[in-house]
Amino acid sequence: MIGNMMFQPLLISSLIEHAALYHADTAIISKNTDGSMTETAWGQIAQNSKRFANVLQSFGLTVSDRVATIAWNNHRHLESWYGISGSGLVCHTINPRLFPEQHKYMVNDANDKVLIFDKTFLNLVLSIKEAIPYVEHFICLDAYDEDILQAFPEVLFYDDLIAQHSEHFEWPELDETKASSLCYTSGTTGNPKGVLYSHRSTVLHSYAASLPDSFHFSAQDRILPVVPMFHVNAWGTPYSAAMVGCSMVLPGPMLDGESLVQLIDEYEVTNALGVPTIWQGLLNAAYQCGSKLESLVRNVVGGAACPPNMLKAFKDDFQCETIHAWGMTETSPLGAVNQLKAKHAALDDSEKFKLRFAQGRPPYGVSLRVCQDEKGTAESARDGQLPGHLQIKGHWIVESYFDQFNHALTQDGWFDTGDIATLDQDGYMQISDRSKDLIKSGGEWISSVELENIAIAHPELDMVAVIAATHPKWDERPILIAKKSAASSLSEAEILDFYANKIAKWQIPDKVVFVDAIPVGGTGKILKKDLREAYGSILLAAVPA
Ligand code: ADP
Repeated sequence: MIGNMMFQPLLISSLIEHAALYHADTAIISKNTDGSMTETAWGQIAQNSKRFANVLQSFGLTVSDRVATIAWNNHRHLESWYGISGSGLVCHTINPRLFPEQHKYMVNDANDKVLIFDKTFLNLVLSIKEAIPYVEHFICLDAYDEDILQAFPEVLFYDDLIAQHSEHFEWPELDETKASSLCYTSGTTGNPKGVLYSHRSTVLHSYAASLPDSFHFSAQDRILPVVPMFHVNAWGTPYSAAMVGCSMVLPGPMLDGESLVQLIDEYEVTNALGVPTIWQGLLNAAYQCGSKLESLVRNVVGGAACPPNMLKAFKDDFQCETIHAWGMTETSPLGAVNQLKAKHAALDDSEKFKLRFAQGRPPYGVSLRVCQDEKGTAESARDGQLPGHLQIKGHWIVESYFDQFNHALTQDGWFDTGDIATLDQDGYMQISDRSKDLIKSGGEWISSVELENIAIAHPELDMVAVIAATHPKWDERPILIAKKSAASSLSEAEILDFYANKIAKWQIPDKVVFVDAIPVGGTGKILKKDLREAYGSILLAAVPA
């Protein structure tokens, strides 16, 4: 016997319809590429998304054709997203910070038929145009601009197009398992790989991400997704925001600390989301200008480990609760998020802090396990002690990569994340490293993350990374790459002393390399691969021949 309840497919169009019907006047505030602001609302976003769906329809595209976007977080990009996925096409977000070779690869691999771009990326698009012959239409996400037309005669302008098309569009009743959007991993090893989300996975992810024990979104919030829409769909925030009807501030191209402080203060943002490097910039700027970030109730940090002193700084100096979350492109991205339980209320502040600093527990809809190898043959104890290979399964986890027929899963159906973590009996997960960043010294593992967390707590260090350097006796030893604050005269010996009594002696780095800048990649994460190439042999050079 099956239940007698209605069946409605879980579709992205239903999110924007909901926002239009029940939150039409809730503000969407957007910074344009020229720095000017546009204030619109969900009702208008929904109307324009329908106009844009009509534009795409007029191109003769068919269900599941791919439409690429290279754009910042702004209102036109948001409208185009709903127009694309809502009408049954696949929204392929491209990270402009990757290399041109990767851009060409991704557009061709995805077989994109239309490419939408922000003015800022005109040169990027022109530089790859000849190498992406299957793209039939190029749309600049802006008003008509004579200069752009001169440089790119076949370009179409978004504002012209939507002005020419009707706001009436019947969203198609698609199968909920149809593809809705496509993101490529950043390809630190080999070519980027496509992860193809479905309507169903996206809507279920939106429910989970909005919950109080996740990002904690409600219709009373004004959220600021600093994480770009080209980075795992801005962690799904544009979908969750429509679902709960919260207001959004879209920060456009200016992601420096000063610009973000200004947006938060001026528009009274209640919750902001981004990677640790963004929050470091924000903290510095807030201290400098004396802002107390008064409206900010909470912020979400993910994409890389949150340094413990960052949690403390937000709490102690800004009364802002920092939520640490973990995920990856392959997991939509939410895989774990750190909120305490009722039973933790009795813990003292330092114990609470220790718990909160981990990556958190899985929301309903995904499961985690830690295994002794990547194949998942033996599961480790859930005792929070022994690190192992972190694996995940659930409604919004990748099964196979785009256009690749073989599964990306273990034989028993789990996805191996490439992260090394512990898991305790309540499901609190703590990443100790990425498997490729672990340091193996004389047969013992050392966590680079643990060493980084100690170093970054030093008030005179701005940014740090620990990598494995090849060692003639121990195979690998940790070395610390550090960027000092401007006025600092800190020495190597002082930093190494700083490790004393905080960690076992044999785990203390062998060397400190001071640098002017630490390289970060397209999603704001430190490029450890580049650091290993530059400094991985430094301990060999020190050994006498
Ligand atoms: P890429 O693998 O190209 O960096 P993703 O954005 O998908 O692209 O990154 C996912 C990885 O980022 C995870 O596997 C993990 O190593 C790291 N990561 C994400 N969030 C956290 C976190 N809160 N703490 C530590 N590492 C994290």
